[in-house]
Amino acid sequence: MITTYHRPQTLAEALTLLSQPNSLPLGGGTLLSHPTTDPVQAVDLQALGLNSINKKGNDLEIGATASLQSLLENSACPDALKTAIKLEAPINIRNSATVAGTLVASDGRSPFATALLSMDTRIEQVTLAGLKIESKILNSGEFLPLRPANLIIKILLPLNTKFAFDFVSRTPADKPIVCAALTQWASGRTRLALGGYGRSPMLAMDGTEADGLETAARNAYHEANDEWASAEYRMDMAATLAKRCLETFQ
Ligand SMILES: Cc1cc2nc3c(=O)[nH]c(=O)nc-3n(C[C@H](O)[C@H](O)[C@H](O)COP(=O)(O)OP(=O)(O)OC[C@H]3O[C@@H](n4cnc5c(N)ncnc54)[C@H](O)[C@@H]3O)c2cc1C
Repeated sequence: MITTYHRPQTLAEALTLLSQPNSLPLGGGTLLSHPTTDPVQAVDLQALGLNSINKKGNDLEIGATASLQSLLENSACPDALKTAIKLEAPINIRNSATVAGTLVASDGRSPFATALLSMDTRIEQVTLAGLKIESKILNSGEFLPLRPANLIIKILLPLNTKFAFDFVSRTPADKPIVCAALTQWASGRTRLALGGYGRSPMLAMDGTEADGLETAARNAYHEANDEWASAEYRMDMAATLAKRCLETFQ
């Protein structure tokens, strides 16, 4: 439960507040404002100007507090990523939920986190070292399993790639039971992430070419058994979806 609310005007002020016990960054608040028994000091990020989305070189630089809907509506957002964002949450939540809050709160069923893992997205976090703000960039593959609790200020999405996303779900608007996100670079590097199961999306393959893609997809989900689907079903679907993604590049 949020017991104290702060709206810092500078990054340094936000980081100072976040160094206090029980304080957490507040993005869109769609999850953090849920009732809990633990007291929380919310440090609202909305006045920090971290909501811009800009193309810079080969990257799309997405500010941590950009809403999912503003990314969806950005002309540089890849079409397949738009599909993943639409599946992440309905429009009312997309209008409030931020990209960083969504990534931090995501589980293995998150289409958005699966897409970001496939794209080898980089995540910029900041900490306060004395009076100095220090920045560190983690790849999504490093960030997602550990979720270090530092403040995220930016997400860097590569635009010089081909990107495809496909999924199966109970209904067209449900979060997927299995989803595949495939990214290919001009060098041939091919990176497959799977979602729909577990605590975090899974990196199934990161190779110099696409050979062995279906086998990698199948192997990655050999234990992906839960109340939504059997591992056998997920293995078959993962291989099929990975193949379909690859076909969109040809
Ligand atoms: C009714 C309802 C129920 C939901 N239930 C769940 C659920 O059970 N599980 C789930 O995963 N999602 C749930 N969601 C989805 C949730 O809305 C999304 O995870 C959402 O995208 C979170 O984004 P936000 O910006 O609103 O995050 P917030 O609610 O503001 O924050 C979510 C988490 O991210 C952290 N955070 C936010 N911004 C940053 C930042 N810049 N740097 C570091 N950390 C940051 C916060 O401290 C908090 O821990 C629910 C949504 C609704 C409306």
